[in-house]
Amino acid sequence: MELSGRKAVVVGLGKSGVAAARLLAAHGARLAVADDKSLADLEPVLEGLRGIVLEVHPGGLSEAAFRDRDLVVLSPGVPPSLPLLAQARARGAEVIGEVELASRFIEEPIAGITGTNGKSTTTALTAHLLTRAGFSVFAGGNLGDALSNRVLRGGKLDATVCELSSYQLEGIDTLRCAAATVLNVTPDHIERHPSLESYAQAKERIFKNQRPGDAAALNVADPRVAAMRTNPGVARREFDPRYPRSSQAAAFRSGPRTLSVDGATYELRAATLRGAHNAENALAAIILATHLGARCPALQEGLDTYPGLPHRLEPVRTLEGVEWINDSKATNVDSVEKSLSAFERGVVLIMGGRGKGAPYAPLRPLFRGRVDALLTIGEDAPRIEKESSAPRGGARPSHARRGDGLQRLRRVRRRAAR
Ligand code: ADP
Repeated sequence: MELSGRKAVVVGLGKSGVAAARLLAAHGARLAVADDKSLADLEPVLEGLRGIVLEVHPGGLSEAAFRDRDLVVLSPGVPPSLPLLAQARARGAEVIGEVELASRFIEEPIAGITGTNGKSTTTALTAHLLTRAGFSVFAGGNLGDALSNRVLRGGKLDATVCELSSYQLEGIDTLRCAAATVLNVTPDHIERHPSLESYAQAKERIFKNQRPGDAAALNVADPRVAAMRTNPGVARREFDPRYPRSSQAAAFRSGPRTLSVDGATYELRAATLRGAHNAENALAAIILATHLGARCPALQEGLDTYPGLPHRLEPVRTLEGVEWINDSKATNVDSVEKSLSAFERGVVLIMGGRGKGAPYAPLRPLFRGRVDALLTIGEDAPRIEKESSAPRGGARPSHARRGDGLQRLRRVRRRAAR
């Protein structure tokens, strides 16, 4: 992509916006930036971009930010559907997302990962599997480092593993994933997508530019994923955790701890991969890594040594027989459901915060027998209590505010404090 002399504006100066600004400037673009924040709030960021940025448009988007610009690069937080952007397009400007910009400079194959839940785990695991198989890898995108930083770092790599959010996928145009997966689509980010269908369509875009010989891994247990189209000639690798002895190329063979892909069998032994949801993540990661050339036994070794990510079923410590686990990345009902399923009984669950509008009732059956006490916190505490309680007469966990649960939690906490 030729950027020299092009008049570009980066919209949104978060992590990826800053990386995009650096990338554009490194390739000779004449750079403006725009952000909702005030000049005073932007000061620390602009300090780091001194000498690169020629024009700053703080305090909200206005027409002035786009005037005379022929390239508009959006941070993931900025919806491409804004009317001001439609006007810029009408004037002939190219409007793309940060990952699209970066991908135009990446030569190695890209493994792309999206889904409502499990993206970061699958991204980190795929990168780990490839690394163990001897590949030099960059992992980033929505997770950790912005994709533009891969380009700025330079050098030759064997693969880039990229986590892609629905927001980022809305801003792609030519980005091609040699191997791509959609893990699941459940209600989330309802605030930006007008419907679940449009959210699923954004996720489906990960397959849009795949060419014959590329691979698409789809978790077909999720009907919205199963319905996604893939391009002719692309190896469509469907996996379905519901059918243990499925004849599909990738399937659970004999229970969720043994996986079979392309005739090779893998055991899931690492504590960092507990739970059926992580078996799904592992299947997707194996399919992607296999497509890029990794093989057994390196893959098995990678599964055994996966260090896990902070805040995802992260073992904190075991104290007097009580195992403390941090799963604070479970920020929607589906992910809480999946995490809870990884445990059979005796769970004291601390849950709360600000909900995203999805009902908590689906958690109710899971609480039964599994959750001894529920401690609700934050804005949604009353809603969680109300919706997670079984109807009169049914079994339910004791809520922390109501006696037993709190007593028990206090005991557990006292012991932990000691
Ligand atoms: P994301 O990057 O999509 O937010 P993470 O890998 O960070 O996903 O996991 C976030 C939380 O989602 C985890 O702590 C776990 O509770 C849950 N989770 C992980 N993988 C899955 C999956 N495949 N299906 C449903 N929930 C999952």
